[in-house]
Amino acid sequence: MQIKAPRGTYDILPDQAAKWQWMEELLKLTASDFGYREIRTPIFEHTELFERGVGATSDIVSKEMYTFRDKADRSITLRPEGTASCARAFIEHGFYNGLLPVKWYYSGPMFRYDRPQTGRFRQFHQFGVEAFGSDSPFLDAEVIILMMEIFQRLGLQELQLHTNSVGCPVCRPQYREKLISYLTPIKDELCQDCQQRYLVNPLRVLDCKNRSCQEAIKGYPLLADSLCSDCTGHYQQVRAGLAANGIEFIHDDKLVRGLDYYTNTAFEVHVPSLGAQSAIGGGGRYNGLVKVCGGPDVPGTGFALGLERMLLAVDQQQNQMPVDVFVIVMENRFMAQALQLTTEIRRAGISADMDYNNRSPRAQMKYADKIKARLAIMIGEEEINQGYYSVRDMHSSEQYQADRDSLIANLPGILFKKEEEQG
Ligand code: AMP
Repeated sequence: MQIKAPRGTYDILPDQAAKWQWMEELLKLTASDFGYREIRTPIFEHTELFERGVGATSDIVSKEMYTFRDKADRSITLRPEGTASCARAFIEHGFYNGLLPVKWYYSGPMFRYDRPQTGRFRQFHQFGVEAFGSDSPFLDAEVIILMMEIFQRLGLQELQLHTNSVGCPVCRPQYREKLISYLTPIKDELCQDCQQRYLVNPLRVLDCKNRSCQEAIKGYPLLADSLCSDCTGHYQQVRAGLAANGIEFIHDDKLVRGLDYYTNTAFEVHVPSLGAQSAIGGGGRYNGLVKVCGGPDVPGTGFALGLERMLLAVDQQQNQMPVDVFVIVMENRFMAQALQLTTEIRRAGISADMDYNNRSPRAQMKYADKIKARLAIMIGEEEINQGYYSVRDMHSSEQYQADRDSLIANLPGILFKKEEEQG
């Protein structure tokens, strides 16, 4: 019998791999522009780390983990997310004694025994950042700005950023009691899951996807009304930080992360056209996490993005992997010079491509347009003899001549200026 990839997993074939490389590169570069450095943690950890770091009552830990016993009878789990491992590494290597905040990013496969459907897999990929060691609301704003910058560089549109504050150990216990008192008399109207969790984890009832639950809790006490003054102030500053950077957001009182070590900021980004699995990323502040994982009382904040869903959104919105420059060869006999120019541009760290199919200059121009090249540079007899290149801005169709010797040195400036103009 033919052996197929396990349910919920898939191969990334070479045609797709180019897109993955493009996206992974873009994610890493953007994070490093914001001062985040890469950390690589093991794909499997002791099960206890996730029980503590994700929470034993969470869906992930209670239903979705790939857990097994190794040959020495230890309980091992394939990582279902990246934050707990980062917290463990932060503690294990004593980073809390060093310069704070520590700002990390990670990228790689995660494993959850979930019901596969479009945009939901059992092995999927996340890119995430974590910043440990500061309680500043402006650091929360920074990670959100970084996340939105990533979406902007991917060319994603029609995003909805939802934000909320889930309070802290001072104000949340009171809210929890208030919510339980509200839910108890209406518990029979809730779905099976919520009937089970409303006493243990009442905040999770708020974000239950079941329509009947949403109907039943219509008059629920607002979380925002129960925040203490510190939490209200913190949230206000996060919002001020976002507004000052032109980031639009929707306050969503029902956006919660039910576990105790989540504090203050919570956020999530949706691309509504993706359908049922529209969340492409989310995160928030987790001031209690490091302590829960056995470390000192060090605050943290971060996010995780789903690469499969981001790629789906990129495809859906028909974004191509943009190439900076397309070299147009005017006559076949100049192929060697065209290749040399393309190579020089690539060596300068700028993406470039050219035609290898004997297309006419007109057809090459059309091709450059289709692959969303930002500049086209023409090379033919005139250009070679006279020491200049004709450059066409593919967006504005403006065409001009550029000196051959200085063109490559000037290209980063030209491309950067274009980016600024296009916002
Ligand atoms: P979470 O850690 O659950 O907040 O997930 C962060 C992001 O990872 C989500 O917004 C999704 O984009 C993505 N994600 C989570 N679970 C899956 C899954 N089973 N398959 C694909 N992507 C997922």
